[in-house]
Amino acid sequence: MGYPVLLLDADDTLFDFAQASAAAFSTLCRTCSLPWSEEHRSLYDAINHTLWAQLDRGEITKEFLVVERFRRYLSRLGLPGDPAECNRVYLEALGRSAVLLPHALEVCRALAQNHRLYIITNAVASVQRARLSQSAIAPYIQGAFISEEAGAAKPSRAYFDYVLTHLSGVRPEDCLVVGDSLSSDIQGANNAGLPCCWFNRTGAPRPEGLRIDYEITSLPQLLEIT
Ligand SMILES: [Mg+2]
Repeated sequence: MGYPVLLLDADDTLFDFAQASAAAFSTLCRTCSLPWSEEHRSLYDAINHTLWAQLDRGEITKEFLVVERFRRYLSRLGLPGDPAECNRVYLEALGRSAVLLPHALEVCRALAQNHRLYIITNAVASVQRARLSQSAIAPYIQGAFISEEAGAAKPSRAYFDYVLTHLSGVRPEDCLVVGDSLSSDIQGANNAGLPCCWFNRTGAPRPEGLRIDYEITSLPQLLEIT
């Protein structure tokens, strides 16, 4: 057992964010009487993605992001509506969706037998808490470090310092950061000097200039390296 503490990203590492987001977007369109189509959803996804990348680079705040994504979306399509209300409806629906990625449940169950599992996430706190509590993996997770509550976000060193401070007695080399995002999870582990495992689900090319200690393409491979 090389890494007694596993710091696991949530979205697109354990949870199927694409499915949750698609369901929440449909609920938003129904509730707020907005048109729905695949094209509409793709447009929203693209706007949201751009803003999250800016957040990862520290250029904007989460409070700005969550409303701005709907302001841009409505404005691009010339639709009426209150962006803040759209965000409220969307987040509430997102919190009700706890769809896991393939193998997430069995892998968490197996790892929890001899590791301590924690969630590390930049997601909206209310959504993440709601989702975690109703998820099948809840019994295997010891706690969640949510950026909003930490006062800092991945990939900042301050965020990981907060995590380690709350794991008393745990040394950095005891932890393995596992996540799908190069810009938040892997960059964060590099900033904080923590061992890391990149969950490369899509078979993306390995980037230059980042330390990647392990790379997996499916979650069961984690059982072999932890
Ligand atoms: Mg992720």
